[in-house]
Amino acid sequence: MNRSLIVAANWKMNGNLTLIKEMTTALSVVSLSQDTRVIICPSFPYLAAFSHAQEVKQLDARISLGCQNVSEHENGAYTGEVSTDMLQELNVDYVIIGHSERRSLYKETSTLVAHKVKRALDAGLSPILCIGESEQERETQQTEVVLASQLQPVIDEIGIEKFKEVVIAYEPVWAIGTGKTASPELAQETHQYIRQFIANIDQQIAEKISILYGGSVNATNCQQLFSQSDIDGGLIGGASLKVDEFTKICSAV
Ligand code: PEP
Repeated sequence: MNRSLIVAANWKMNGNLTLIKEMTTALSVVSLSQDTRVIICPSFPYLAAFSHAQEVKQLDARISLGCQNVSEHENGAYTGEVSTDMLQELNVDYVIIGHSERRSLYKETSTLVAHKVKRALDAGLSPILCIGESEQERETQQTEVVLASQLQPVIDEIGIEKFKEVVIAYEPVWAIGTGKTASPELAQETHQYIRQFIANIDQQIAEKISILYGGSVNATNCQQLFSQSDIDGGLIGGASLKVDEFTKICSAV
């Protein structure tokens, strides 16, 4: 069966209105294969501008808007937080949850991540669940234990049936923003482990779920990574801020 191939851009706390304009113009002419989905995740203040440009430039339906975080609460007195309802009003379809920067800098636990995934799904948003090990965890052969400990709380929270609506992004922390990409073989081996972990619970869901690789992907290394059998696209940080480079990655998938 065909899994969706996804290229998602995580702009982090970067980008501006000029980048929105340039990126949407470039995406209006990019050539995408039939199964490819492109998701742009700018910071919250730029969601409306992207959504507007998407409409005005009549971007292909395979290009969607995503964001980088969401509150686990429905609404209420949570200063500084953003709810799923607000995101939906801005035509957001995807939400990155559990990025390693949120886990390490903002102390988001796997339990909180699981609550956020549930909130997103309950509201009809598709979560992009980020998981990944640190350099020390990789060196001490803890990778599989860590990935399992990040996946299991989400499965426990939402159940395996709902889990099929989740997109997974495997992002080794040591490869994020470092220029140190995982080799295609190592990435494939880890993606295979993740798929097998899900297959041990439900084989069919494991076959259908898209698992993206993230960590210093660029226009030069993307083809080799994306050609691995268990890699279904990428979550792109730094390279997604360069219009030419990012559109090359979108065409390569
Ligand atoms: C990310 O932050 O999700 C990411 C993959 O960043 P980079 O591509 O810059 O390593």
